[in-house]
Amino acid sequence: QLAQIGVTGLAVMGRNLARNLARHGYVVALHNRSVERTRSLVADHGDEGTFIPSESMADFVASLERPRAVIIMVKAGGPTDAVINELVPLLEPDDIIIDAGNAHFADTRRREAALREQGLHFVGTGVSGGEEGALLGPSIMPGGSAQSYEKLGPIFRSIAAQVDGEPCCVHVGPDGAGHFVKMVHNGIEYADMQLIAEAYDLLREGLGASPAEIADIFRTWNSGDLESFLIEITADVLAHTDAKTGKAFVDVVLDQAEQKGTGRWTVQSALDLGIPITGIAEATFARALSGHADQRAAARRAFADAGGTPLAVADRDAFIEDVRAALYASKVVAYAQGFDHIQAGSEEFGWNIDRGATAMIWRGGCIIRARFLNRIREAYDNDPKLPSLLVDPYFAKAVADGVPSWRRVVASAAAAGIPTPAFSSSLAYYDGLRRDRLPAALIQGLRDNFGAHTYRRVDAEGTFHTQWAGDRSESPA
Ligand code: NDP
Repeated sequence: QLAQIGVTGLAVMGRNLARNLARHGYVVALHNRSVERTRSLVADHGDEGTFIPSESMADFVASLERPRAVIIMVKAGGPTDAVINELVPLLEPDDIIIDAGNAHFADTRRREAALREQGLHFVGTGVSGGEEGALLGPSIMPGGSAQSYEKLGPIFRSIAAQVDGEPCCVHVGPDGAGHFVKMVHNGIEYADMQLIAEAYDLLREGLGASPAEIADIFRTWNSGDLESFLIEITADVLAHTDAKTGKAFVDVVLDQAEQKGTGRWTVQSALDLGIPITGIAEATFARALSGHADQRAAARRAFADAGGTPLAVADRDAFIEDVRAALYASKVVAYAQGFDHIQAGSEEFGWNIDRGATAMIWRGGCIIRARFLNRIREAYDNDPKLPSLLVDPYFAKAVADGVPSWRRVVASAAAAGIPTPAFSSSLAYYDGLRRDRLPAALIQGLRDNFGAHTYRRVDAEGTFHTQWAGDRSESPA
């Protein structure tokens, strides 16, 4: 008997993905650099399906039916290249290598091009949902050739999360499209979490509420527009008590947020493409700020008396509703920016990504799964060329309805000296986007003044330059 698919790299993610495949009836070939992981997977879960374990890469490849499909689930970067280099000499034309780790899409493009020359398919695939998702149904974002998806599609669709009878898996586009979309997914996840953290901070400061009380507020929010996995687990984390001290868990955790780098990649790529993903960028920088412990200590000393006016909340329910509305509006902005980024990447690299389908496959399995992704899908299905998610009629109304609350929250946070970088920058983005005239006109004037960079006029075609150092006459540039 030959295996239909193989997994090499059996740490938490690969192990659970292999089990998920076996539970769906696929015969799964197994391999890991150190054999203990392979052995323990078979020992612990061998009864969940049919596994063919191998201790050498050659035996692993030989245990697969052709065309072979091999999932690599190892540490991203050098280890992925090492495994590819070991695999390639053992493979034959039309075989498929799937990199399901968190690779940078540029690496995936490079690897795909190199392997295509050798007649192999390389499918960079985003997999989201963490350990549990990998086992019970992740959101799967495969790139690579359409031909490879003919074999992989049915397999991936069957092991993916299912929402309303639809699998959370679609062929995103060629070469690096899958990893690009996974990267933006993670960037949005950063923004989502930062917004939640700011909402929590405001509730705590404004209401003087305990984490457990705030957990209840989040639980209530989870039955409305904000319903999502992250809101649900926020309630869970806030309600948790530290066993050692009896304090709220959130109060014993060091307040320095870490990152593995996908947020940074998203921001770097957005800078290259010229897309203002301010929510994701602020979230990434907020984590960075939190980690600068020495600077924070110095600033606390230097500015000990420079705080603002404490939040004076007269109407508790109204304040909670303001924070909720501000959170929702800011979240819509973060997603609008993320989808703009996907569109820009799609145009730059010729991927032809369907944004509605992307929203669809994020509805289940992944970390940002949320009720409102249905709305995003509808928005892009109704108008695939939508210039911004914000102007879709549903979201335009949702944001407009929230604007008074949003302004109150950002203004009172500023007055109270509570940092809300994502709330504030999202509001500034919204105001910038809808502004009739932006002060960008002055920037153009300055650029022309110091560097003769030229400008365009509102009332004439072409570009112009003013003789700033001379007689200040204007001439066409
Ligand atoms: P790790 O990222 O911790 O990687 C460990 C695995 O990589 C082990 O199987 C290890 O083999 C293998 N490995 C490391 N270096 C080499 C090498 N030079 N040659 C061969 N194999 C090597 O495992 P995870 O399961 O956490 O993640 C796997 C991938 O999935 C990563 O790319 C990660 O970014 C991505 N991912 C992780 C998620 C998560 O929630 N953890 C979510 C989504 C994606 P050995 O046992 O021999 O050391």
